[in-house]
Amino acid sequence: MKRKLVLRFPAAVVEYPFIYTLAKEYNIVANILKADINPRKEGRMVVELSADEKSYQRGVDFLQSRGVIVLPLEQQIVWVEDRCTQCGACTVICPSGALWMQRPEMTVAFDGEKCVVCEHCLKACPARAVEARYLSGV
Ligand code: SF4
Ligand code: SF4
Repeated sequence: MKRKLVLRFPAAVVEYPFIYTLAKEYNIVANILKADINPRKEGRMVVELSADEKSYQRGVDFLQSRGVIVLPLEQQIVWVEDRCTQCGACTVICPSGALWMQRPEMTVAFDGEKCVVCEHCLKACPARAVEARYLSGV
């Protein structure tokens, strides 16, 4: 399994080699997506952890036992209508019908409630009119 998380490190533990320990002791591969770490200051990191369920849970327990705040990283897809050129490419590949072509107007519409965050539309859009935004205060 893979899971994206926000890790917040208190200043007292910010220099501890957490990522190394996750790999060595818990068999968890951590892909760092974003990091803001400074000596003796509170740090923040966005990571994608890859592990089996049991190892993942043990690793998270370890982080929390050391005072690290572990938050799920929620991703949200946003359609920026002003940038959309109405080419329709995203509506063809969207598996959930969240992006669709309204008829008879033939204009693109977006329903975030239907979106399953597969990100296909991000790759398909030539106008960069679809964006992935992260919640959790990152
Ligand atoms: S992320 Fe996937 S489900 Fe959501 S709008 Fe894009 S293609 Fe559709
Ligand atoms: S692929 Fe991009 S430009 Fe084309 S309709 Fe979808 S959002 Fe608009």
